[in-house]
Amino acid sequence: MRIADPALRAESLAHLYLDLVACRRCSGMQGPPVHGEPVISPVMMVGQAPGTREIQRGIPFCWTAGKTLFRWFESIGVDEAGFRRRVLMSAVCRCFPGKNPKGGDRVPDANEVDQCGGWWRGELELARPRLIIPVGKLAITQFMTFKRLNDVVGGQWPYRSPTGLEADLIPLPHPSGASTWFKMEPGRTLLDHALALIDAHPAWEQVRASASEVTAHEDHCGGVLL
Ligand code: SF4
Repeated sequence: MRIADPALRAESLAHLYLDLVACRRCSGMQGPPVHGEPVISPVMMVGQAPGTREIQRGIPFCWTAGKTLFRWFESIGVDEAGFRRRVLMSAVCRCFPGKNPKGGDRVPDANEVDQCGGWWRGELELARPRLIIPVGKLAITQFMTFKRLNDVVGGQWPYRSPTGLEADLIPLPHPSGASTWFKMEPGRTLLDHALALIDAHPAWEQVRASASEVTAHEDHCGGVLL
């Protein structure tokens, strides 16, 4: 049964995070698991998996990829502090997958993605966002079928969860320094289109309008933005 009261949903999200940080299901993953603020937001971002710095600090996107990502969001009116406070930050996997011998971080395997999927799906059902921003191929694949980033970044797509929850999807490329896709054409232009779509989305407008505020209600009830 879905919980209607936003404050109760924020409370349930905080409880979900208590369970998440204790999760040790995957032998090939390095924890402890990372999560963002327990905010009930109309916007949910889904990344791939944390890196070593994120695991050390327990904060998602706190290193070089985060700098690029937050620069993108700042260009459409929401700075890093406001984003962390007002957007639900999720990920396909919540532990560090280790290094890829060929460079960069290892992409989580299908079993790890499956094991960890219950966490972001739980967040999705509690927050019920109207806009989902999947970041990078692995995250986008959780929501839609596609072949190339060129085919989906720069567009807005409908999403319906298995439980019937409906939201708009606006995919972004992964901001990793190892990626060249968004630095060259057509990636650079498609990224600009995607950011323009986010900028114009009503859910983002709501986040932007409140990103610099901390309301008395929030002080008492935790992160609720509906
Ligand atoms: S990757 Fe996810 S499912 Fe696996 S141990 Fe970490 S939190 Fe648990």
